[in-house]
Amino acid sequence: MNEIGVVIRGESCSFDASMSVPLLNLAEHNRPYQDRMREAFDRFLASGQYIGGDQVTLFEKEVASYLGVSECVAVSSGTDALLLALMALDVGPGDEVICPSFTFFATAGVVHRLGAKPVFAEILEGSFNMDPEDIEHRITPRTKGIIPVHLFGQMANIARIQAIADKHGLFVLEDAAQAIGARYNGKHAGAFGAFGAFSFYPTKNLSGLGDSGLVSTNDPKLAAKARILRVHGMDPVYYHSHVGGNFRFDPIQGALLRIKLPDLDASIGLRQERAACYVSRLGSHPAVALSCEEAAGKKLILPETSVGNAHTFNQFTIRVRGEGARDRLVAQLKAAGIGHGIYYPLGLHQQECFRCHTGGAVSLPVTEAACREVLSIPIVPEIKLEQIDEVCDRIIGFLDGGSAA
Ligand SMILES: *Cc1c(COP(=O)(O)O)cnc(C)c1O
Repeated sequence: MNEIGVVIRGESCSFDASMSVPLLNLAEHNRPYQDRMREAFDRFLASGQYIGGDQVTLFEKEVASYLGVSECVAVSSGTDALLLALMALDVGPGDEVICPSFTFFATAGVVHRLGAKPVFAEILEGSFNMDPEDIEHRITPRTKGIIPVHLFGQMANIARIQAIADKHGLFVLEDAAQAIGARYNGKHAGAFGAFGAFSFYPTKNLSGLGDSGLVSTNDPKLAAKARILRVHGMDPVYYHSHVGGNFRFDPIQGALLRIKLPDLDASIGLRQERAACYVSRLGSHPAVALSCEEAAGKKLILPETSVGNAHTFNQFTIRVRGEGARDRLVAQLKAAGIGHGIYYPLGLHQQECFRCHTGGAVSLPVTEAACREVLSIPIVPEIKLEQIDEVCDRIIGFLDGGSAA
């Protein structure tokens, strides 16, 4: 097997040349940029500036202008963006921070690492994003903030969440790691909260060649504090007002990401086009529902776009209903060489390492049902529309009860 592997979350999510539709193909994705990337690397190598410098500050300015925020601080990863933001917001022991359970681990991991307690809120069935009403029920005198996650590339109900936060004097930190370019009533993800946190991990919509991330803010004081915390809380050099970390952003990532940033909206457009293909091909099948509201008696539910949202489809996530049905479809896709992912098979409230916070006694039925039913299928811009058709054929074969193999 001629494997071209990319390490995804510690697993080797690889594909061989015979795979008919990979979930992603990063080398193919970067091919149109390769000449400009090589030139950028040559300039970087010759510059001798391997930490900080223009490529960092220019990238920060360009992303700030794209998002419509006053400032950005580029950092080492999306996880570090979340951690740095919480440090700048003085989260520590005794604090509670409300976040979803149906998200990537980092969202709650950073809260725990600062000695605070992640309090898991329920999601809405249709959008997979946090349920604002459930957030409000979980506020206590110890609650310090809320981390809404804009999951799969679609924003949570940020207006409602921000209103709840304002009413109770809480901060909002947007986990926009999967949602760069997503908008709510025209305003960008990351432009609402005290901070937005972004990731340029290779699977994200603006994908780097390695790890990096960024925080956005409209508050100059928070931006200044984030800059100091990024280098061990040091200001001036060797004088430490705070304990920070090494959260520096590599200038080579800045140089490479700056080449791709101007194409971000076009590449989101290609994802949206692929999503529309899925909806038109699958949506006409009698066993398929276009929303959770119409799900009675259906076998498969397509992803919903909430009112006011521009969904960027970092993932195209369907729900497969019925005992064991998702896993049967997965087996058929695997046999057909079609890439897929399960984000996420287990809620964070069910994770062993968070028993110290949940006592094993937290139940989130909407989250748990999502964990059993979700299936993400190929959506990346470099996948051809014929390949989307092929995925649809397999899924329709499954719905019609054949083996489709
Ligand atoms: C990817 C991701 C992160 C972490 O970003 P890294 O750059 O991998 O550290 C955080 N939250 C969510 C929701 C993510 O998808």
